[in-house]
Amino acid sequence: MQAVDSAEGIAGMQPDGTFEVAVIGGGIVGLATAMALGQRSRRVVIFEAADRIAAHQTGHNSGVIHSGLYYKPGSLKAKTCAAGRDALYAFCDQRDVRVERCGKIVVATDPAEVPALDELHRRGVANGLEGLRRLGPEEIREIEPHAAGIDGLFVPQTGIVDFTEVCKVMAAVIREQGGQILTSTAFAGVHRETGGLVVHGLDAKVFVKGLVNCAGLQADRVARLCGIEPGLRIVPFRGEYFNVKPGRRDLVKNLVYPVPDPRLPFLGVHFTRRIGGGLEAGPNAVLAFRREGYKASDVSLFDVADMLGYGGFWRMAARNWRAGLGEFRRAGSPALFAAALRKLVPDIREDDLEPGGAGVRAQAVAPDGSLCDDFRIAQGERMVHVLNAPSPAATASIAIGQAIADFAARRFE
Ligand SMILES: Cc1cc2nc3c(=O)[nH]c(=O)nc-3n(C[C@H](O)[C@H](O)[C@H](O)COP(=O)(O)OP(=O)(O)OC[C@H]3O[C@@H](n4cnc5c(N)ncnc54)[C@H](O)[C@@H]3O)c2cc1C
Repeated sequence: MQAVDSAEGIAGMQPDGTFEVAVIGGGIVGLATAMALGQRSRRVVIFEAADRIAAHQTGHNSGVIHSGLYYKPGSLKAKTCAAGRDALYAFCDQRDVRVERCGKIVVATDPAEVPALDELHRRGVANGLEGLRRLGPEEIREIEPHAAGIDGLFVPQTGIVDFTEVCKVMAAVIREQGGQILTSTAFAGVHRETGGLVVHGLDAKVFVKGLVNCAGLQADRVARLCGIEPGLRIVPFRGEYFNVKPGRRDLVKNLVYPVPDPRLPFLGVHFTRRIGGGLEAGPNAVLAFRREGYKASDVSLFDVADMLGYGGFWRMAARNWRAGLGEFRRAGSPALFAAALRKLVPDIREDDLEPGGAGVRAQAVAPDGSLCDDFRIAQGERMVHVLNAPSPAATASIAIGQAIADFAARRFE
């Protein structure tokens, strides 16, 4: 195979030289982990199945630097989101990546949502957020003149960034550190040898002291290829966006979010200003029939059979069928999508929206059907497996990477 060198990686190339750690996956968690290992003088090779870095969740997300408001105090999400957020702002400042700390508002539009907003406020304080401000209807309109709400919360720490840009800069740092990124190189398996592991890609083979699995939507399968039973299954949920048409983008200045349903791990459709321009609405959360299925018509029989053969999937479906059906109905109907958005911004109309992009979330589901809420990272001999890294893992990536690198530096000897 011909070697193709690009700014992001090298396709069709054998690993060049000796490496201490192999990272599987060139999304933001894999890249941040590789960068942190490089800072600890560990030479890293990244196996990335796609032809570029940030090809999946990282390159299809909302571009929001989350504050840490939502997460259970003491959870991995809460701790790494706060530390990762600050580290990400600092990284962007140091490396000239465009970022804006614009803040966001969360609005309750119904009295029934106020207790959940109170809880968010409490969590935010417990998670160390300073400057949270409760807003009455008038104050909501001072910040977002077109937003409606009976109660609101202003969160100053939230920001926007292009995570693909962040990844490109991380990739450059990794290369400066002596690391190598092999794109179009899917991980195929691993076997043990004295003092380490031999990691196989389809065209590549490398001896290393340890392996870190950051394969996102394929993390459970990569774990199984490594002989680890992950104890969960990744179920893909597509998040579809609409773009607000150019003439109507002044309806929202920055970010407007609803109070999320506390039973679900998704935040509810919201408005997000993009750092590169434009205003997005979404994402919804629809069960996908293919792990990397960005369109409703994308179906993988293998992925569907895998999902239907998992008892945890049926138990999840039994618990959440009502919410799931609602999402399917809304996904097929711009009118229903616009109606959900109108709760936040009453002036938005269906014809203000045009179809936008989509992302697919890797949501880990436990055998009992519960949606794994917190990040899940498992350790094995000479291995670390990142099994559940949904939102806010892009925000938290530098902190997640540092924690993994600390572990790896001690254990991959
Ligand atoms: C719609 C949506 C909106 C979101 N919004 C936000 C947000 O605003 N802010 C935020 O912080 N988070 C957000 N998130 C979450 C965030 O994007 C993810 O948590 C984060 O990108 C996860 O990064 P990752 O590196 O684990 O996964 P990924 O980015 O999916 O990377 C995994 C990589 O592994 C590769 N891979 C898979 N299998 C193999 C294999 N066998 N061999 C080699 N490589 C392999 C894949 O090709 C992929 O590049 C959002 C997610 C979605 C889907």
